[in-house]
Amino acid sequence: MINNERIEHIERLLEVVRGLTTAPDIEAFLQTVITEASEMTDSELASILEYDESAEELRFLAMQWFQRDMLRPLGVPLEGSAAGWVFKRGQPLVIQDAKADQRHFKVIDRVTRHDTHSLAAVPLIVRGEVIGVLETLNKKDDAHYTEEDLTILATLGALAAQAMQNVHLQRKVKVASIELAELERLKTDFIAVTSHELRTPLGLILGHATFLRELVDEQYAEQLDTIVRNATRLKEIVENLSDVDNVQTGAARVRSHQVSLAKIAQDTILTFQDEANARNITLKLDSNGDPFYVDADGVKLSIAISNLVKNAIQFTNDGGHVTVTVGNDSGYMKVSVSDDGVGIPARDLPRVFERFFQVETHLTRRHGGMGLGLAVAKAMIELHGGRLWVESEEGKGSTFTFLLPTNRTPPPAPSTSPFTA
Ligand code: ADP
Repeated sequence: MINNERIEHIERLLEVVRGLTTAPDIEAFLQTVITEASEMTDSELASILEYDESAEELRFLAMQWFQRDMLRPLGVPLEGSAAGWVFKRGQPLVIQDAKADQRHFKVIDRVTRHDTHSLAAVPLIVRGEVIGVLETLNKKDDAHYTEEDLTILATLGALAAQAMQNVHLQRKVKVASIELAELERLKTDFIAVTSHELRTPLGLILGHATFLRELVDEQYAEQLDTIVRNATRLKEIVENLSDVDNVQTGAARVRSHQVSLAKIAQDTILTFQDEANARNITLKLDSNGDPFYVDADGVKLSIAISNLVKNAIQFTNDGGHVTVTVGNDSGYMKVSVSDDGVGIPARDLPRVFERFFQVETHLTRRHGGMGLGLAVAKAMIELHGGRLWVESEEGKGSTFTFLLPTNRTPPPAPSTSPFTA
């Protein structure tokens, strides 16, 4: 008989375990837990209490339906209650004579007009942390709660705790994703506003400074050169911002012609050759002499390759090497820019293509830039249906590679823009 009862208990517990994945929601699942807790331990009532951090007390989360309206608004203090005792110590508790026991919180009995004479309670524990209490009241026929009852409650309590934890985690993930979406929106707005608002005044500064440079004596030439140089640098930043904004708003258009990838790579190298020479960096093209024609927007590919080469030089020590390789790979055009510079720490690799991401923070940073170059490069390549990725080892160097389809499919619609989640 005893064995039969045990087998029945195990089967009922297994059914509750199944409910973890099949119950429509947490409320339905916890309702099953308290029904089983009271039936399997032969108790009159059962309830689940959850710790409320802000109120620093326990609150009823699940209870028999007829008690719902009465118990929901009530809080149970940690001091002077059996549930509080269990919660604080993380240990089960059996009280056979509740009336005589100071640990029983008698207020609830008064409010619900209930007469508690015995109780059993177990802590709900998730990874060592107590998050609530499962309690049963009044074992029938004035019987005493047994070890077996506590084992059943502990098992049901573990399942309830797991389910409650899952809901907590889901809530946290939801809040985090809302915050993340808000941050993304701020980034997008910032990009749109700055790129539009800076463009006109900057164009005027650059135009007038260049004009004055032609007019003034040599004695002011140096100052005007500095103005022009820095305004040009600002213009580059604004152009990067506009490129990102255009891709985001879907305004970026790919104007395709037949272009030679080898020529674009060679022209880019020429642009950076002086800078490389000044720092004794060997900057060269590695290719078989073919033009590598592709149907693409030459300006956009040139922006992508320039950003990669610029970074490669920037993050390579004096005397280092930067190589641009152009070739074919299984029906794709393949371009890689590799350097033997500082490399990128493994933990930062997944984020380098994010807008505004920089390995060093802006406070510790020795290099200029705004963390947009790679985001722009990636957008330019993906507009062509291509793919850009990086392989890097800290202290050894980095290789950025992109593939372009030779027969280009139409560019992705704005909704699949690389900047949207
Ligand atoms: P920025 O214009 O600020 O350099 P990017 O988007 O071009 O921004 O690059 C993002 C970050 O990725 C850089 O700040 C740098 O830390 C890292 N990075 C990019 N290219 C390289 C490279 N070739 N070697 C090492 N780190 C690089």
